[in-house]
Amino acid sequence: MAHVAVIGAGFVGLSSAYWLMRDGHQVALYEPVGAAGGASFGNAGTFANYACIPVNNPSVFRDLPRFLLSPSSPFRMRWGYLPLLAPWMGSFLLHSTRSRYTASATALSVLLSRAQAGYDDLVRDAGLAPFIRHRECLYLYSSAAAFEASQSTLDLRRRLGVQSDILGAAEIAALEPRLSPIFERGALFKGSWHLSDPAGFLRALQAYLQSRGLHIEPHAVDGLHPASDHVRVACAAGSSAYDYVALCAGVHSKTLAQQCGDHLPLEAERGYHLMYPGTTRLVSRPVGWAERGFYMTPMDQGIRVAGTVELAGLRLDKRQELLDLLHFASQRALPGLGAPSAPWLGFRPTLPDGLPVLGHSKDSARVVYAFGHQHIGLTLGGLSGSLVADLVAQRAPSLDLSRYAPSRF
Ligand SMILES: Cc1cc2nc3c(=O)[nH]c(=O)nc-3n(C[C@H](O)[C@H](O)[C@H](O)COP(=O)(O)OP(=O)(O)OC[C@H]3O[C@@H](n4cnc5c(N)ncnc54)[C@H](O)[C@@H]3O)c2cc1C
Repeated sequence: MAHVAVIGAGFVGLSSAYWLMRDGHQVALYEPVGAAGGASFGNAGTFANYACIPVNNPSVFRDLPRFLLSPSSPFRMRWGYLPLLAPWMGSFLLHSTRSRYTASATALSVLLSRAQAGYDDLVRDAGLAPFIRHRECLYLYSSAAAFEASQSTLDLRRRLGVQSDILGAAEIAALEPRLSPIFERGALFKGSWHLSDPAGFLRALQAYLQSRGLHIEPHAVDGLHPASDHVRVACAAGSSAYDYVALCAGVHSKTLAQQCGDHLPLEAERGYHLMYPGTTRLVSRPVGWAERGFYMTPMDQGIRVAGTVELAGLRLDKRQELLDLLHFASQRALPGLGAPSAPWLGFRPTLPDGLPVLGHSKDSARVVYAFGHQHIGLTLGGLSGSLVADLVAQRAPSLDLSRYAPSRF
């Protein structure tokens, strides 16, 4: 049995704590904000086993100028941030060629095809089944042209094993009668599901783990110092030595990874949500509007409208235009939503090739990385946690991890 520190209590960190404790390790969890303090708090709540299409794809060469300049675009950048973003953006474009995009999509599909197995035992052991809603996600297109433009991605998904039913307008209306009749085509993804309350799920998981001996350190880690026989973890309250460390701090992992010899191009893809309290019954499943880049997901607290991408680093101010876009587009799709409650901004941790980092640090095999899960960290959290446990145990993982190694940059 080893003494392991997990850094970060999002989907990846808490799942790692679960799988490490299952192996019999003694685990301390460092987290300054509390469970679901980061991107894991406000996501769209979908278990998106179909989401193997990374944002870096060949269409960005055609669409990027329009995306960045159009007032109705769900994809934005703050121009003042461009000098800092330039290296990441250059690498992102390099990874958007057809061959590299196909390689990334394939590597994502390998993870996604195993994602369910990452949650089965965890959900059962921690009694989390009441948070899971088995209603398949519906992805919608409001014009035939948009549907046509997405054919190559739908084809690639199919080739990579994603199963979906393609629906016409009448079938969409039969499935979700409260939607405006503006959607021409839709895709219903088999095997997908959603959470009724993502933060509630993680708080309940943390409570379960604490009841089994998880130790909480309510501090931000500010130093990681690997040595031959331990790793020293430093925070404002002092420092402690551990046998292993799992770095799962989402977008904030970048600076700590630097201390372990890895200079990784990790960037924030900012996303927003609005909650519409008391509207839960307007749709029965997560409904995504492809052209507008957002989901409407029925949760315990109401419908959550979540999405958009903004490249602007870690500043905390929100962009009202993107919140307006979410509000007006969701009203158009689902009349009767009413007025939203407080808006939320979160930071998706994203590498330029769209793949997470799963592997050992450059300086020490005692430091294990699991971060960079971009738009699918909820989906891949359970699996990533099990891979962290494999790496700590020096067990052969269930898949080849070389594609996700930090050394690829
Ligand atoms: C609008 C939006 C919608 C999304 N929808 C979906 C979806 O439907 N399905 C899906 O699969 N994914 C979705 N995602 C993506 C998903 O939310 C993220 O990929 C996921 O939450 C990342 O989890 P994580 O555990 O890696 O990081 P985080 O959830 O960000 O957790 C990192 C934790 O580390 C802590 N931390 C940071 N620094 C330190 C430090 N120095 N010391 C200790 N702790 C630290 C933070 O407080 C935080 O709690 C969405 C994201 C957004 C923004």
